[in-house]
Amino acid sequence: MPHDYDVVIVGAGMVGASLACAIAPTNLSIALIEPVLFNDDQQPSYDDRGISLSPSSKRILEHIGIWQSIYPNATPIKKIHISNQKKFGFTHLAASEIGLTELGHVVIARSLGNALHKKIKQYKNIKLFCPAELNNFVKHNSNISLQVMLPEGNSTINTKLLVGADGSHSLVRKLAGIKTKEHNFEQTAIVANVTTQKPNQFTAYERFTPHGPIAFLPVEGNRFVLIFTVDTHKASSYLSMSDNKYLEIIENEFGRRLGKIQEIGKRHTYPIFFIEAVNQFQENLILLGNAAHTIHPNAAQGFNLGLRDVAGLAECIYSAQEKKQPINDMDIFNKYIELRHSDQQRIIKLTNSIASSFYNTSLLSASLANTIMLLLDFIPEFRSLFLKRAMGLAGYQPRLVRGLQL
Ligand SMILES: Cc1cc2nc3c(=O)[nH]c(=O)nc-3n(C[C@H](O)[C@H](O)[C@H](O)COP(=O)(O)OP(=O)(O)OC[C@H]3O[C@@H](n4cnc5c(N)ncnc54)[C@H](O)[C@@H]3O)c2cc1C
Repeated sequence: MPHDYDVVIVGAGMVGASLACAIAPTNLSIALIEPVLFNDDQQPSYDDRGISLSPSSKRILEHIGIWQSIYPNATPIKKIHISNQKKFGFTHLAASEIGLTELGHVVIARSLGNALHKKIKQYKNIKLFCPAELNNFVKHNSNISLQVMLPEGNSTINTKLLVGADGSHSLVRKLAGIKTKEHNFEQTAIVANVTTQKPNQFTAYERFTPHGPIAFLPVEGNRFVLIFTVDTHKASSYLSMSDNKYLEIIENEFGRRLGKIQEIGKRHTYPIFFIEAVNQFQENLILLGNAAHTIHPNAAQGFNLGLRDVAGLAECIYSAQEKKQPINDMDIFNKYIELRHSDQQRIIKLTNSIASSFYNTSLLSASLANTIMLLLDFIPEFRSLFLKRAMGLAGYQPRLVRGLQL
């Protein structure tokens, strides 16, 4: 028996699950297809990473009713301390400079997953197929038929709108024949939780060193998520060394501004690459999140950008519903791209230029990095624009980011 839904979202990671919650208050019937259980250790989206959420994300998550659940375990970031080893000294960016109480919050991805899962279960019009995996789809007339592998066997799910939120290596994108622009940075992020001697004072640190950038994101009193980005060919040696040896390297590069690092959890690795879909939609189908654009994590922007895209698509869907337009009307996709294109391109440019100037040991890149640090330190307008951009508040933004209802 085939199942029929107005919208099928493939991938219930951070972006797909957020979209389901954002559009659920409409009367649309929604299916969410995800192969890995939300609380499984292998869940690729909801692991132990600390995710830095911008004020734009906070507003969107508040609106979709998730923020209330994650807030008790979210740590505010009040200051960012950026330093460039052996070159320009350091600079501080503070929330108070632009009249805000915080620049963002850090939440553990797993707790975001739990909150989204809890919310999804509250909606009768969302059917979560999990574990379930998309294997194939075919288009006919104004519908798409998906072949989905369920525990009881293969099943067919029909829909008018297929949303591919299935991550960087999206099968939806591949089956749709959508081409990509790609760049392998040949860098790997090594992520671990650490406990430091000194409290985190709600400060995030980013230090650019010849061995790669080191970032500390604050979580709870004396704890941080430590992210060390290294050349991929060196990653295995950093992974195989003892905790003591690893911490010695971090402390040598980072210094003792947080006192001694007293404890470190398991180290996890994430290869870093850039992927951008050349087209984000075609008839009956749209790509979202990492499937549409996977960016360098250097400015902690990937999910924040994906969530603003969720807000943008939800806005276009709500508006089409009000006008009684069909859910697969191409007008929805065109308006969505019109609304989101410039923010997406700004963030792609920002993260790619940080990657090429701060993560590179060439003299030209070093002087570019120093220039950026000087601009940040001495030109208040540049600081303010940089902060607004990083917080997802620059440029024209979807209604939810502007604090308006859909
Ligand atoms: C080290 C690191 C640190 C980061 N830190 C931050 C940060 O601080 N702030 C921030 O904003 N962003 C951060 N990001 C980026 C963030 O992780 C991504 O932007 C986010 O995970 C994208 O979510 P997504 O749902 O699009 O994709 P994913 O998280 O990859 O989820 C895709 C989902 O699709 C499912 N799926 C895959 N194939 C299929 C299939 N065939 N059928 C059905 N389902 C399928 C997967 O199981 C998965 O659940 C970081 C990234 C890295 C690597």
